[in-house]
Amino acid sequence: MYITGIRVHSPQTVAEALELLADLKNARILAGGTDILVDLKQGLTKAGDLISLKNIQELKGIEKKGKTIRIGAFTTPQEIHSNSLIRQHFPALAEAARSMASAQIRTLATIGGNITSAVPSADLPPSLIAADATAELRRAESTREIPLFEFFAGPRETVCRKEELLVSVRIPLPPPYTGISYKKFTLREANALAVASAASRLTLKNNKMEKVTVVLGAVAPTPVLAKKTAGFLQGKTTSQNLFEEAAALAVEEGKPISDIRGSAWFRKELIRVLTLRSLAEALERALGKTGEKKNSL
Ligand SMILES: Cc1cc2nc3c(=O)[nH]c(=O)nc-3n(C[C@H](O)[C@H](O)[C@H](O)COP(=O)(O)OP(=O)(O)OC[C@H]3O[C@@H](n4cnc5c(N)ncnc54)[C@H](O)[C@@H]3O)c2cc1C
Repeated sequence: MYITGIRVHSPQTVAEALELLADLKNARILAGGTDILVDLKQGLTKAGDLISLKNIQELKGIEKKGKTIRIGAFTTPQEIHSNSLIRQHFPALAEAARSMASAQIRTLATIGGNITSAVPSADLPPSLIAADATAELRRAESTREIPLFEFFAGPRETVCRKEELLVSVRIPLPPPYTGISYKKFTLREANALAVASAASRLTLKNNKMEKVTVVLGAVAPTPVLAKKTAGFLQGKTTSQNLFEEAAALAVEEGKPISDIRGSAWFRKELIRVLTLRSLAEALERALGKTGEKKNSL
């Protein structure tokens, strides 16, 4: 089935894109198109106009600004995975990007689309949330920056308003002795969405866990900030037993459903295993023992 009757606009600047968004009633943003074009073809969504972001330089690339890394919304998973700043400071995000879909999709898709689609199994949000990332949202007269965790309102629902554009994602450089890890389980190697995922972040100080964040993916309508699990670990000295208890707590924080990719029971088991493994790897990284790894169970 072909998509017909939709006008495609190609603004050169963010300001032009925002003007089009404000003026056109039934317009949607087109980034890589790997989600929205599928939805349009299947009749799951409608649009009279598509506003393509592909010519807007401001939305592209990764740069260090002071103590923050800025990733433009039109940056692809391939660019994220191969970027030296990301590999050095956020290997978990590089791995999450590398684990997505297939080489073809990774060179087309964008971080902005992955986040704004708000599909519960999306690969990039968990490690970004664990890293305290924020979303920069712009509209004609104003810009707001919100914690990425607050961006998600439900499955395929976000707080991004109709006239707003996600312009960039910003990640503060992690303090010393910080490690972040992302683990996911998929039913096959390529082109498969996560059945469940977990991202953990540990910052160590004086031999104790000063800051802990655990984020669960694909086990609830939006990414889950596992606060009880993190609170349980915070302030304690790391140990295998403690991580096992924390992983058991994380199971209670997910609200998985049964679907074609796995039962709720299986997903709960995955939460336990993935949380445990991500905590262990985050600790290795906090202690400076590992670099980037292949992301699999
Ligand atoms: C075969 C296949 C395999 C896949 N495998 C994976 C996988 O393993 N992991 C995974 O996470 N995803 C996967 N996906 C989903 C998809 O590729 C990703 O979600 C991708 O990152 C979407 O980005 P995009 O640029 O293509 O978004 P688009 O399809 O262009 O846009 C998606 C949505 O976001 C909106 N949007 C895009 N950019 C912005 C912006 N800057 N501001 C405001 N709104 C915006 C669009 O209007 C649209 O509603 C797969 C898809 C396919 C087709």
